[in-house]
Amino acid sequence: MNRRKFLKNSAIITSLIPSLGFAKSTNRNHFIMPPKPFEYFIKEGKIKGGKILIIGGIHGNEPGGYKASDILINTEIKKGIVAILPRSNPESIFTFKRGYNGDMNRKFASISKKDADYYKVNSIKNFISDFKPDVILSLHDGYGYYNKHNNQWGESIVIDEKIYNNIPLFQTASFVSNYLKKEGFNIPIHNTKTSEKNSHHKEQRMSLTYYALTHHNIPAFCIEGSKQSSLKRTTTIHLLAIKKFFELYNIEINPSFEYLISNLDKLLEPKKTKIIAYINNNKKLISKSEIIKVPKNSEIKFEVSNNRGGGVIPKHVNINYHSFFYRYNLDFIVKNDNISEYLFKII
Ligand SMILES: [Zn+2]
Repeated sequence: MNRRKFLKNSAIITSLIPSLGFAKSTNRNHFIMPPKPFEYFIKEGKIKGGKILIIGGIHGNEPGGYKASDILINTEIKKGIVAILPRSNPESIFTFKRGYNGDMNRKFASISKKDADYYKVNSIKNFISDFKPDVILSLHDGYGYYNKHNNQWGESIVIDEKIYNNIPLFQTASFVSNYLKKEGFNIPIHNTKTSEKNSHHKEQRMSLTYYALTHHNIPAFCIEGSKQSSLKRTTTIHLLAIKKFFELYNIEINPSFEYLISNLDKLLEPKKTKIIAYINNNKKLISKSEIIKVPKNSEIKFEVSNNRGGGVIPKHVNINYHSFFYRYNLDFIVKNDNISEYLFKII
């Protein structure tokens, strides 16, 4: 992949992240939030194999997808190349919303430069062009259970067509669905027939999978856990589906998927988030609820000190803002992905 070109593009786009500032400020504190850069991991095995892109967290209230992605980042790839975008929509994860700025999975056909998701959607598109995977897996936790109600999306494998441009989407998904069945999980295939004239799911024409299929001719699948299932079950389904895709696309990992699944309780344990605040350049570590008194007209810059899913968001301010001025007392919520860990207050 042309990493330099990709990074260059990202840097240009960074300037489009909204920032709220005023040249003059009286009795207002200036807050600078931790950056939310486009996060990606590329892991290459010593042995040649296939090339897979895994995308988690497009929808923030679907944790199975970003937790499964995160687990894979910590595993070794022995064969093939795996790229992982674990949390492609951090604002929505931190607020546990489908889309903090609207549904990001409806922005892949076109998006305005003014859209707060522009940088993320464009980064994903650039990544796909540069990385050129053999297959893309988009991880979701849909509502309910497709095997009980065919208008619900939970626990299914979603494809846009049975066959698209000679790409046998249904056949590939069948291998995975049959394997999951053998493992005790009934995860049927949901074909949205996206490009058909009378499709019931024309909205899918704006999705990531349809974009990958139609713009890059790359097979793309949505793996759906369920919002109504436990995080453990949903993550297990994601990992088992990924296991089968890895087999089909000639990718091997270490430790094994069996090991990862049998250790899920431990792997899913939330890690405590610590925040470093620079209050007028004086460093302060925040690791629990507290009230922090600052002089008027302070500059307060936050950093996340440890884990990948960690973050901090202001309680009553648009969280798209990287930088803003605020006159009154303000609460901040320390996050571990969608989990709120503790609050602190700046007065
Ligand atoms: Zn989703």
